[in-house]
Amino acid sequence: MDSGEFRQWSAKAAEWGADYRQTIRQRPVRPALAPGEVGASIPTRPPEVGEPMERIFADFEEKIVPGMTHWQHPRFFAYFPANAAPVSVVAEYLVSAMAAQCMLWQTSPAATELETKVLDWLRQAIGLPESFAGVIQDSASSATLAAVLVMRERALQWKGNKNGLPGGARVRVYASDQVHTSIDRAIWVSGIGEDNLVRIPVVGPLRGMDVAALEAAIKVDLESGYRPAGIVACTGGTSTGACDDIAAVVAVARRYGLYVHVDAAWAGAAMICEEFRALWKGVEGADSVVFNPHKWLGAQFDCSAHFLRNPDDLVRTLAIQPEYLKTHGKDGIINYSEWSVPLGRRFRALKLWFLIRYHGLSGLKTMIRNHVAWSQRLAQRLAAEPDFEIVTEPVLSLFSFCHRTDGDANQHNQALLNAINDDGRIYLTQTRVGERLVIRFQAGQFEMTEADAETAFDVIVETARKRL
Ligand SMILES: *Cc1c(COP(=O)(O)O)cnc(C)c1O
Repeated sequence: MDSGEFRQWSAKAAEWGADYRQTIRQRPVRPALAPGEVGASIPTRPPEVGEPMERIFADFEEKIVPGMTHWQHPRFFAYFPANAAPVSVVAEYLVSAMAAQCMLWQTSPAATELETKVLDWLRQAIGLPESFAGVIQDSASSATLAAVLVMRERALQWKGNKNGLPGGARVRVYASDQVHTSIDRAIWVSGIGEDNLVRIPVVGPLRGMDVAALEAAIKVDLESGYRPAGIVACTGGTSTGACDDIAAVVAVARRYGLYVHVDAAWAGAAMICEEFRALWKGVEGADSVVFNPHKWLGAQFDCSAHFLRNPDDLVRTLAIQPEYLKTHGKDGIINYSEWSVPLGRRFRALKLWFLIRYHGLSGLKTMIRNHVAWSQRLAQRLAAEPDFEIVTEPVLSLFSFCHRTDGDANQHNQALLNAINDDGRIYLTQTRVGERLVIRFQAGQFEMTEADAETAFDVIVETARKRL
């Protein structure tokens, strides 16, 4: 592609992006498609001869776009958001154009130094003490894997990487049953093994770990010859927003010398608002914390902020320095690839820098406070309808509900959810609370308005009553 054509198609892509965002409300949030429909429209063989951009672009519009779920739709209330504020998209255009590989300081000095600065901005914004240093990971799953590997290495006196996990060393990690599946995977991949992930029951309205049970489990394990290594606590669990009592978990961990990793992948963004920090009170005592600016905050996927009280433990666990990666004579530099499992790294700090500067913390706080208020208002309105029940009260902007029925409640609510999503105006997902299938609602899309929450109420109530 010559530079004239590159210019033309880049401009076209930017135009297309702006039009897409401007008209996104006219699309159903989730496409009505059968599995295989998109695949069937793509030729089975690769083209031998290059094709004109006009045709490629037309196929993109015709075959791909109608098959997309629109995550930037203001009435996307499913899962958690993956917000890409327009300003962060602009930053990503620039990053794509430069396409630097930011594994070492010398492979992209500005990317490294900006990463240090903006992560320190974020640290201040969420109220973590100065003793924490941050790094951007591709995902919370990677951050949690790194944290679990550190737990393992500490518990094995830093010999696990070399010796593996010989039969005798039974490393134990503790978490509630409300943590994300990325914790299970980290336990599998680290070689610790699922049988050594000890599930602690939860108590109370926030569904946090029973800390007395946690301490009892650690004691039993010590007596049985296991090696307790660490605890993965959560603030804002994925299913219903469960929050562990971080201060109490940290106090137990201190007594037994265990590492504490806090997974706040979604809820961490809300900590830019002082009034929500009670949900993770005591977090300054944790060893590491992860939150995803690519979820609620608005930094285009992928961008996961991983904060560490002692980055040396992480570097000791993950750094490999073959000769070709050494940066001789450059003391005082950071090579962030030594802080993460993958070697290669994209330039992710630029979109955070653009985002925070353009909106300011006050703009981002207002967005989050609005989402929380609108979600709570929706929960109140549904609670006031006699045929609806709020099953888990809002934690920030997440709650779950179900529609009452005389029949099989799970079947009824699954059918209701399908009907709501087929309508296309809003998109919700389900979860389980005990044995119950419940419908989950979270507000968090960057450009959502209060009217969108009202539409959600109308669609939910109308659809339920139509089906009666
Ligand atoms: C989304 C989420 C994750 C996984 O995040 P990725 O960045 O997709 O790996 C982990 N934990 C919680 C609580 C989450 O909400």
